Amino acid sequence: MNNYQNQAVPWIRNLSPYEPGKPIDELERELSITNIVKLASNENPYGPSAVVTQALEDSIRELSRYPDGNGFRLKQALSHRLGFDCNRITLGNGSSELLDIIARVFLAPEAEAVFSEYAFAMYPIVVQTVGAKASVAPALASDSAMPYGHDLQAIRDRVTENTRLVFLANPNNPTGTYLPANDLHGFIRSLPARVMCVVDEAYFEYVEVDDYPDSLQWLDEFPNLIVTRTFSKAYGLAGLRAGYAISSPEVTDLLNRARQPFNLNIPAMAAAEAALSDSVHLQKTLDTNRVGLVQLSDGLQQRGLRVIPSVANFVTVDFRKPSEVVFRKLLREGVIVRPLAGYQLPEHVRVSIGTREENSTFLDALERIGVHD
Ligand SMILES: *Cc1c(COP(=O)(O)O)cnc(C)c1O
Repeated sequence: MNNYQNQAVPWIRNLSPYEPGKPIDELERELSITNIVKLASNENPYGPSAVVTQALEDSIRELSRYPDGNGFRLKQALSHRLGFDCNRITLGNGSSELLDIIARVFLAPEAEAVFSEYAFAMYPIVVQTVGAKASVAPALASDSAMPYGHDLQAIRDRVTENTRLVFLANPNNPTGTYLPANDLHGFIRSLPARVMCVVDEAYFEYVEVDDYPDSLQWLDEFPNLIVTRTFSKAYGLAGLRAGYAISSPEVTDLLNRARQPFNLNIPAMAAAEAALSDSVHLQKTLDTNRVGLVQLSDGLQQRGLRVIPSVANFVTVDFRKPSEVVFRKLLREGVIVRPLAGYQLPEHVRVSIGTREENSTFLDALERIGVHD
């Protein structure tokens, strides 16, 4: 008998898979309940705009054809929006695929990638998938000004002659913390030119603090900078899978060589292009989020719980007891949140910001399960 476990390369054998948020229909099947509120995957509670729905319907007629492997129309739309030529844009099947492509282009079994403790869970996965070494820098202390946030000095200290990549999430998921413009600029300037710096801006549309960087303006200064963004969060297209990276033309050429030729499907590209055109829907999303962030943060603090200050579309809260228990009790109330044991935060839960009603449903459910027992 073959032992296929032993035949796999060791780094794949030891890989822990990504843990997604619990799907609504899974809970429906398990508990035979309806009207479930899912606040577990940082999705847009309104879904995509009506303009997107129309573009999707139109795209169905083209499905017998292969997609445009160059993504011309979507890149053109992004190029107009962002002010960068198409030769600096790489499209991805979600920005997660771009993280994977970046790891495959720049890492190999002897190489190292540095990222922070409590950083987005895809970083260790993409690094380990290519057999490279992850070097994890301790995060800022829980009582610091940016609790659990990235510690740029600690990250810089971990850069060695073997380091090829640094992953920074700005803002970070699951902490909701961010890196101010001056600190981030100084950090990138301090990196050796051979170290690629990936700034993952999956939530950048939501951020409203004054010192949040406009990192794209640094691309000419730092040819080793790669910025990734997504249509999954603020644009409400998580189910379609569309993201993009902006980088120097030389790096963009490398990323495009390593991707599958048709990595984005026709509906995803049509929807993403349409989504960019509807600024009203985006504004409504951001307005709802701004109010909901205060509603949830205040509601949790009034119940005696500590929240990590967030600039994104979710908050992470400390229950001071195993959060798996809180998670399961909330499931019985029909509310799905995200326990963070997989992030080494076994007493924290991440809650996405929903509509006003969804946020209230969650806060009322907390009341019923009793957070103080
Ligand atoms: C959600 C998320 C992403 C990407 O999601 P995609 O759906 O793959 O675009 C990337 N980075 C962070 C930090 C995220 O939270």
